[in-house]
Amino acid sequence: MILILGGTAEARALASELAARQVPVMTSLAGRVANPGLPAGEVRIGGFGGPAALSDWLRDHEVSAVIDATHPFAERISNSAAIGCASAAVRLLRLERPGWSERADDRWTWVEDLDEAASAIRGRRAFITTGRQGLSAFATTDSWCLIRCVDPPAPPLPRHHELLLDRGPYTLDGELELIDRHGIEVVVTKDSGGEHTRAKLDAARARGRPVIIVQRPARPSADTVATVEEAVAWAVHSG
Ligand code: NAP
Repeated sequence: MILILGGTAEARALASELAARQVPVMTSLAGRVANPGLPAGEVRIGGFGGPAALSDWLRDHEVSAVIDATHPFAERISNSAAIGCASAAVRLLRLERPGWSERADDRWTWVEDLDEAASAIRGRRAFITTGRQGLSAFATTDSWCLIRCVDPPAPPLPRHHELLLDRGPYTLDGELELIDRHGIEVVVTKDSGGEHTRAKLDAARARGRPVIIVQRPARPSADTVATVEEAVAWAVHSG
């Protein structure tokens, strides 16, 4: 069986492709989102309990290969996969979509983390699209923030904010409308990459708004592909 570490659109697409080819596949989700879009094939939900427990789990379930298709900012599970697979002698592939650096222009400011992003908005009306986790970095900002995420975030949140619960993919027209309606002066994002959430970057550019972008964290070294098609080819070979 192939285990996909999921939680992304690419992981869902990969599970569909493998299930359609009769490759036995299970997707693992962290269980963060209340109503996740469930992938094809088997699904398990919840943490493994760290790298050693993941390694045991892989052996117990006779997993032949793991594809880490988690989000580029999900650092801990990728580290766990690298250690757990090495210890269980299971092959590991990382499926990681390219970031957005090729789209950058001189209105983009790259920052290392959310704390730096919070300092960089400096009193401007900000559209925060960095997800539910880590929003406490913005708790002490005086800026008004439009915060968009899938599920309600836990406090502390910025003193002046509006919460928008929504799930991509987003459209250019929709993002332009948000920027105009809320008088957004700066957009804050992670370098997540992909098409589903890209429209905000096009909208910011169309309206001449700056973007503050959090760069990706370092990853453990692993064989890596950028597309679902490449991951399918690898899995068919490994399954
Ligand atoms: P994380 O910090 O790397 O993971 C924290 C812990 O959650 C891990 O140590 C692991 O618990 C568990 N976990 C994470 N992903 C898992 C998975 N696919 N299957 C089983 N357990 C998992 O991850 P995160 O940033 O909280 O993200 C959680 C999930 O949301 C990931 O699956 C990711 O693909 C998705 N996601 C994240 C972001 C983001 O910006 N971080 C954005 C969109 C989607 P144990 O140590 O107990 O095994």
